[in-house]
Amino acid sequence: MFINFLDYKLKLKEGQLVEIGRFFPSSKTCSCCGHIVDELTLDIRQWDCPKCNTHHDRDGNAALNITNEGIRILLLGRREPRYCRAEAE
Ligand SMILES: [Zn+2]
Repeated sequence: MFINFLDYKLKLKEGQLVEIGRFFPSSKTCSCCGHIVDELTLDIRQWDCPKCNTHHDRDGNAALNITNEGIRILLLGRREPRYCRAEAE
C-alpha cells in the first residue's frame, strides 16, 4: 500500500521507485569499504568498521548504503540475489 503510494507520487514528479532487497544489510555494511559486520544490535547507534576504522552513525551509514544500492540496481537492472531470500531460493 505505502509502496504503491510512493510509486504514484514519484511518477507525478517523473521519479522512479527502486526497491532494494528486504535482507540487504544496510546498517551492517560499511559504506566506506563494504565490509559487513556479523552483528549490530539495535541499541548500537554508532560503530567503527573493524576493517577500515571508519566511524559510522548507524542511520546515516544505512541511508548511504540504501542510496548506493538503489543506484546500483538502476544501473544493473536487478537486485543482488544474496540479499533477496525469494530470489536466492
Ligand atoms: Zn570499512
